[in-house]
Amino acid sequence: LPKKMGFIGLGLMGLPMATNLVKKTSDDTQLYVYDVVQDSIDKLVKEGGGKVQACGSSKEVADKSDIILSMVPEGSHVRSVYLTPDTGVLASDIQSKILIDMSTIDTGTSLAVRDACAEKHPKARFYDAPVSGGVIGADKGTLTFMMGCAENDTNVDLLRKLLGLMGGNLFACGGASLGLTAKLCNNYCSSLIAIATSEAMNIGMASGMDPRVLANIFHTSTAQSAICDDWNPVPGLCPEAPASRGYKGGFKVQLMAKDVGLAVDSAERVGVKLALGEAGLGVYREACVDERCKDLDSRVVYRLLGGKEDW
Ligand code: NAD
Repeated sequence: LPKKMGFIGLGLMGLPMATNLVKKTSDDTQLYVYDVVQDSIDKLVKEGGGKVQACGSSKEVADKSDIILSMVPEGSHVRSVYLTPDTGVLASDIQSKILIDMSTIDTGTSLAVRDACAEKHPKARFYDAPVSGGVIGADKGTLTFMMGCAENDTNVDLLRKLLGLMGGNLFACGGASLGLTAKLCNNYCSSLIAIATSEAMNIGMASGMDPRVLANIFHTSTAQSAICDDWNPVPGLCPEAPASRGYKGGFKVQLMAKDVGLAVDSAERVGVKLALGEAGLGVYREACVDERCKDLDSRVVYRLLGGKEDW
């Protein structure tokens, strides 16, 4: 692996991911980091001992590193990190460096940044590589990575080695932006399963069923899912699930609303008909502005749908 690595965006996900890079790379590796929030940089510099160096811009990170990773919230932030004149990554003379964006954003923005990179620096390579597994996975280094490249890409071994320091399962999704496509398909599916599970549990409980019995039946029948087994939206069914601690922690409802919206946009672009997309998106958008739900784990849609919490 290159000894000079860059990391841009040290938020809820980025900070623990970068921390794993610090822990798992050789002693002579240097990590050059930048975030618009100085506090986040200071935290990592403090934790990382001599291995972490603060930078004043994304360009400075790119100047000093041979491989550059980014983990920021939305497409607009990715544009800002890479395309801002004078201070963005592409303002640096990156030559044949490798750029990896791990943010969950729309495929159009990702391809636009990739094209801008190819035009300005023909030997450099830009990859999308979004993740699944949340803050816990980021912390434990067990994230799933969905890499936007072919299995026989020239850099695939390097990507596997590097991203493997932060994750367990690594998938080459076939080509540019297909990592993002995979991520959006997964979150679209799991977001709708959470709504369906909430509604079905509501019907059963309102009819007089014990939710534990119903969840066990789902588990051994065709309604079985990770949402039912590990992330059940009904408080008290899965002791480890966010629902059982007031929906705190987990995957914020705002992030799910963003991802479902991006999946619905993707469907429109590729001409796929959705029966549930707009309805599901409406539920998550409503939860984002509901005082009882906003900022909480996305499975809080159970609460929005009137689910019984003190059964
Ligand atoms: P976050 O808001 O906690 O962190 C984002 C960080 O990026 C912040 O520290 C922010 O200051 C920084 N940032 C924003 N614009 C910047 C810029 N122009 N230059 C440098 N730094 C900038 O978000 P997060 O939860 O870490 O999520 C990051 C991405 O990962 C999102 O796309 C999200 O959808 C995805 N994701 C999140 C989770 C999760 O559970 N939180 C799980 C999987 C994927």
